[in-house]
Amino acid sequence: MKITVVGTGYVGLVTGAIFSIQGHEVICVDLDEAKIEGLKRGQLPIYEPGLDEIVEMGVNQGSLYFTTDLASAASESELVFLAVGTPQSESGAANLDYLIAAAESVADAIPKGAIVVIKSTVPVGTNARIAKVIEERCGRKVDVANNPEFLKEGTALDDCLNPDRIVLGVRNKRVGDILQKLYAPLVTSAKRPCPMLVMDPESAEMTKYTANCMLAMKISFINEIANLCERLGADVEFVREGICSDRRIGREFLKPGAGYGGSCFPKDVRALMSQATAVGFEAKMLHAVDEVNELQKQVIPRKVLEHFDGDVKGKRITIWGLAFKPGTDDIREAPALTLIAQLLAAGAEIHVHDPEAMANVRKVFGDSIAYHEEKYESLHDSQALVVMTDWKEYVGVDPSVLRWHMRDAIVFDGRNCLYRDWFELSSLTYYSIGQAPVHYNQNWLTLSDNNSISQEQPTVVAPLRIEESGSPKLLPCV
Ligand code: NAD
Repeated sequence: MKITVVGTGYVGLVTGAIFSIQGHEVICVDLDEAKIEGLKRGQLPIYEPGLDEIVEMGVNQGSLYFTTDLASAASESELVFLAVGTPQSESGAANLDYLIAAAESVADAIPKGAIVVIKSTVPVGTNARIAKVIEERCGRKVDVANNPEFLKEGTALDDCLNPDRIVLGVRNKRVGDILQKLYAPLVTSAKRPCPMLVMDPESAEMTKYTANCMLAMKISFINEIANLCERLGADVEFVREGICSDRRIGREFLKPGAGYGGSCFPKDVRALMSQATAVGFEAKMLHAVDEVNELQKQVIPRKVLEHFDGDVKGKRITIWGLAFKPGTDDIREAPALTLIAQLLAAGAEIHVHDPEAMANVRKVFGDSIAYHEEKYESLHDSQALVVMTDWKEYVGVDPSVLRWHMRDAIVFDGRNCLYRDWFELSSLTYYSIGQAPVHYNQNWLTLSDNNSISQEQPTVVAPLRIEESGSPKLLPCV
């Protein structure tokens, strides 16, 4: 089929590239000329694992093109996917300006029989609104469908190639049949069974918001439990294991941390809150999800300030992880940004490392913070390390190596991704989420190999490989 995809962000570019390698002729359109010029030269505007290869494949087989000329692309297409941003407006509602502008441009050029498919996340009722915009502009009936996207940044390709479901919001059988035919090869080749759920557009629009709000709710729920655990003397990681092994609850999205961010959960929760308000309904749970998350973003800044008795002026603090989650360079609403802003305002000297997101953070903080390409180099002379994203290169990092590089031995783990047990055996102080802090205690004694008791040196810790050697036995000094 001839397909136009409008918007070459995380959703549009991934969608377009996948359709192109499935034998469709795809034109990806964006009004950002720099993005399109870069794409024509093979430079991707975003980091998404594996996307470069699939884009290259589509381009090389002559089925994937890039342009800023929406009218000419749409005029030749049977399907026009709208995948432009729907960011939060000042009121909290979704801003549909980009979508409406794109729909107007499409209306001027769309051939008879072509279908417009909204892939952007849009409030309930947007399908009808966009259909009206297009029909008033082109003076005839145009079919508009909804096909919400459920990909996750960082695993977008796998999510699109092996989706859990495909949701098709349509008003008639013709549109439903065409879209089911489009997705049939993908559903057949997917690793898991993937239902195609055909419904009315309003229910499709609501399905997408409901999914994101549910996931955000799980995160806020476990974060609230984590905060309670700290106060009641329980360890949230044990509690999490205890509940997640219940099949009714499951494991996903129940990891305590520094709060959720990104371009979707925060804005989608608020957009649904706003839709509820517009119809005179108070969505109490959605308000709580958002409020708990905003408070959660303050937990790590508060722990850092409390540790230093409120005075971080001139203190050198290193932050590992800036992206809102691993596998992406996206920093929209990332909790690390809140932390950096607060520590800078309090006079701290900030050094950062992130495998992918530093260029985006530089656009926000410029030269007011120091950027390091090498994670250990960023620790030199540091008085504290804060881990804000659980990139795999940080997970389970050896405390003795941290100690070696840092001036002071303080670690804040905003993702509970370092091994707490290892810190119990180290000469560092370790703060995490929903657990008691581990304070370095110089009076711990270790049982050495020949079982003689020796006092551990305050700053020297043998690298611990617990999975190989098992935990050394420890005895408190009496
Ligand atoms: P994005 O901001 O990364 O990209 C949007 C692109 O659209 C930009 O490149 C912008 O220049 C372009 N654009 C805006 N107006 C245009 C116009 N009139 N013509 C052509 N191009 C135009 O956005 P995204 O993250 O890909 O999200 C797109 C939509 O998909 C949003 O509604 C979002 O909520 C939803 N969504 C996002 C994700 C995700 O993980 N990012 C997942 C599922 C759904």
